[in-house]
Amino acid sequence: MKITFLGTGTSQGVPIINCDCPVCKSLDFRDKRLRCSVHIEVNGKSIVIDTGPDFRQQVLRESIHQLDAILLTHEHKDHIAGLDDVRGYNFSLNKNIPIYARQRVIDRLKVEFPYAFAEDYAGRPRIDTIPISNQAFLFEDLEIVPIDGMHGGMPCFGFRIENFTYITDMNELPEKEWDKIAGSKVLVLNALHHKDHYSHFTLKEALDLAKKLSIPKTYFVHMSHHMGLHGQVDSGLPMGIHLAYDGLKIEI
Ligand SMILES: [Zn+2]
Ligand SMILES: [Zn+2]
Ligand SMILES: [Zn+2]
Repeated sequence: MKITFLGTGTSQGVPIINCDCPVCKSLDFRDKRLRCSVHIEVNGKSIVIDTGPDFRQQVLRESIHQLDAILLTHEHKDHIAGLDDVRGYNFSLNKNIPIYARQRVIDRLKVEFPYAFAEDYAGRPRIDTIPISNQAFLFEDLEIVPIDGMHGGMPCFGFRIENFTYITDMNELPEKEWDKIAGSKVLVLNALHHKDHYSHFTLKEALDLAKKLSIPKTYFVHMSHHMGLHGQVDSGLPMGIHLAYDGLKIEI
C-alpha cells in the first residue's frame, strides 16, 4: 500500500494570501501546504480522500493517472471544492467515479454542484454517490472502515483502509471508535496550531491522542501557518510522530 499526501494545509492553505509571516515567507518546500487530501494505492486500486480546491493541481503534480473511488470526510469547501475536476478522469478513463460519503454530505453536493446531478448536461462531472453510515463497507473487494468523530459539532468521517487510518477535521474522537484504529501501522491526525480551536485538535491535543492510540507512526495534517516552521516544529516532536508535508510518500 502506498500513501501520498496530496495536501496538508488548513482551509486557506499555506502561504496565506497577503500574509508575510515567517512561515508564509519560508523557502522550505515543506512550508507550502495545499488543502488536505491523501492518495491511497492499494490492491491495484487508486483512491483519494477528499477533493479540495487544489485537487487538479495535486493529481497533476503526483501524476495520478488512475482514479477508482473518492471518499469524502465532510462537506466543508476545502474538502469538496475540486470535485468538478473528476471530469478529467471521466473523459480519459471513460467511467463514472464512485463517491462514498454520508447522506448529509451527498445532499450538500447536490446544492454545491447541482449540474453534476442533471442528466441532460453533457459537461457534468460523472459521479455515482454512494451513501455510507458508520459501518465498514466494501469498495469492490477492499474493506473500508469509517471512523466517526466530531468537527465543531458536525459529524465527520475518518477512514481506515488495511493498516492506514486517516483522520482529518476533528476536535473530538469518541473512545468507542478507538478499537477501529487499534493495530494500524500509520495514523494521520489533524493538528491545526497551538491555540484552542472549536473544530480542530490543537498540536497538544493531537499529541495526547496520538500517545493514547499509540500507533507506531503518526503524521499530523491540516496545519495553519500559526503552527510554525515545519523544520522547527517537526524536530521537536516525540519519536514516531511527524508533521506531514505535501508530496510525502509512505509505504505500508
Ligand atoms: Zn478542513
Ligand atoms: Zn502567514
Ligand atoms: Zn472542515
